[in-house]
Amino acid sequence: MHYYSLNGKAPEVPFSEAVVRGIAPDRGLYFPKEVPRLPDTFWNDLGTREIPDLALELMRPYAGSEIPDTDLRDILEETLGFPFPLVDVEPGVQALELYHGPTMAFKDVGARFMARCLGYFSDSSDAEVTVLVATSGDTGGAVARGFLGVQGVKVVILYPEGKVSDIQERQLTTLGENISALRVKGSFDDCQDMVKTAFLDSALTSAMRLTSANSINVARWMPQMLYYVLAIRQLGPDSPPPVFSVPSGNFGNICAGMLAHRMGMPCARFVAATNRNDTVPRFLASGSYQPEPAVPTISNAMDVADPSNFVRIRELFGDSLPALKSHFSAYAYTDSQTREAMKKLYREYGYVADPHGAVGYLGLKAYLESDPGHPGIFLETAHPIKFRPEVEASLGLHLDIPPQIAGVMGREKVSTPVSQYQEVRDFLLNSI
Ligand SMILES: *Cc1c(COP(=O)(O)O)cnc(C)c1O
Repeated sequence: MHYYSLNGKAPEVPFSEAVVRGIAPDRGLYFPKEVPRLPDTFWNDLGTREIPDLALELMRPYAGSEIPDTDLRDILEETLGFPFPLVDVEPGVQALELYHGPTMAFKDVGARFMARCLGYFSDSSDAEVTVLVATSGDTGGAVARGFLGVQGVKVVILYPEGKVSDIQERQLTTLGENISALRVKGSFDDCQDMVKTAFLDSALTSAMRLTSANSINVARWMPQMLYYVLAIRQLGPDSPPPVFSVPSGNFGNICAGMLAHRMGMPCARFVAATNRNDTVPRFLASGSYQPEPAVPTISNAMDVADPSNFVRIRELFGDSLPALKSHFSAYAYTDSQTREAMKKLYREYGYVADPHGAVGYLGLKAYLESDPGHPGIFLETAHPIKFRPEVEASLGLHLDIPPQIAGVMGREKVSTPVSQYQEVRDFLLNSI
């Protein structure tokens, strides 16, 4: 498969190059030249097949010419080595829990897949690769864990100081080895801008091999479609197509679901649920795309004003707003609505949701009110422990620390403060 830049001013590249570059030289996101439709038999027989075999069929068109089947299947089997249960919450509503991986947020799958692909491609070259990544909370931890100890790869993580939870901060600042963290005075969008600027800084890119591990990277973004397919597999062949509601920040996860739909996956509708950072819900309502500065919320992994992956969603629908609206809805919620939803889920159904999952639940309920009768699935994207103070205070309960988190609790946090791009650049140049 070849990939083109959505800015249209850079050459097409094969998968390996899209992965190693992260972003195209014209600052565009890479997009696959074709999105093949898998046959109905594939979608009807999901339950009879092993998960790594299904994953292989879904990912082969995108990576297959460069990673042979046996290697790609191994990579996928390792990537998917934990459960993705669909849990009953209330009649007609299920939570797809994506937080059972090593850092307890859904980003583990994309980070693990990307780390393994990059490892695979860099086996054949001696040059060290530096992975530069901006995080609104969970990407950093997932990427750090995915790449920890990987030979020939260094990871530098930028996060907004004071705007990630304590556990999130520990997950990205306590590992050491080939992982370093920069704490940025600013918002996630500032971190993301610094990363984008670094990729365009030719003095930097000629001195070192830089790549990104944000969901702009195709190897982070695309394997996320597996979540949706695994949910459909658990629903079984007799279920009507579900509505998926996805708590969205950078819109990579939901865009991957829409890619799976384009490959033939049954789905009644995609709902993007956001917090007060509501650029996309406003865009759907008004037709004009106008990001406002990001505001901090209790669902901080979604505090994104200008979601990078939204251009990919627009591309999937030929940039037609009516076409997009026929498959896609978007709703925004305040923190107090989010807390109310967490309380309701706990009191009425005994379900403990984190703030992101609760936003997803609200979006699902809102859509189903306007179009009832579909099975509803909201994605629960992080374990409640990652937002422990908020969840414990809202629900009046005590959460036990799972083993995945216990490991980072006693360690010292190490990070370097930065406030401007120049300092990021100096840090990178000093690291070679
Ligand atoms: C990253 C993240 C999101 C947002 O996902 P996008 O793909 O950026 O839309 C939602 N919830 C949690 C817990 C996250 O870590």
